[in-house]
Amino acid sequence: MRYPTIPMPRTRTVRAGGRPDGDHHHLDARIRSHLGPAGQCPEGDGRSTHVLVFDDSASVVGYQATDPVGRRYQEAAIAVDVLGRSCRCGRELVGVVHFDVGHADLAPVAVATRPGLVAVHEALRAPDDGAGVSTVEPALAVAGAWPGPLTTLVILSDFALTDTEAVTDLLATRPPWVDHVHLVSLGLVPSFTGGVVPPWVTVTRLGHIPGQVAEAIHRSFTRTRLPSRRTS
Ligand SMILES: [Zn+2]
Repeated sequence: MRYPTIPMPRTRTVRAGGRPDGDHHHLDARIRSHLGPAGQCPEGDGRSTHVLVFDDSASVVGYQATDPVGRRYQEAAIAVDVLGRSCRCGRELVGVVHFDVGHADLAPVAVATRPGLVAVHEALRAPDDGAGVSTVEPALAVAGAWPGPLTTLVILSDFALTDTEAVTDLLATRPPWVDHVHLVSLGLVPSFTGGVVPPWVTVTRLGHIPGQVAEAIHRSFTRTRLPSRRTS
């Protein structure tokens, strides 16, 4: 399955003393406008809870600043902002957990409010004091203990894990605490029993095109939302 890609801005060499931030703002704006709105809130009074799991191990953090992997936090923030702006019901929640659990983790908060958005933005960064572990199980335990079931669990990792069996176990049978798992792969793709991806799992393999992380997370955030009402 192919996903639409975002036109790449022309690469610019930034000299010392240049303005790389300006370029990033420009790129962020393009990604934001490409995503468009996040549709309408689902009917009913249920909550949608999305948890983003981040791998900050050495094999992931070594990417260049303009690479979608290197910019994964900025791009995640764009997707969260879009969801927050589209949510009218106040029941879209986003939580963040890092492989280095206990560092900048955030239990799910409503993103329709400014304090909620600010809290998520603060959690969307590599932990300053993290060890850069390559184990996912502790993060899954944190996410699984939050009030659920989680609508979506998005795991952003290269899946070069020291506990691959934790992912194998997660994918073997859907656990009761999560409805849908989205593996956003920054490297390897985990194997599935019989080579078949179960219907409650989505796998996105990233290339090197800016906007791909934002787009992948946006797809998860909008999976249970209704299409935007057309204005004519
Ligand atoms: Zn809403």
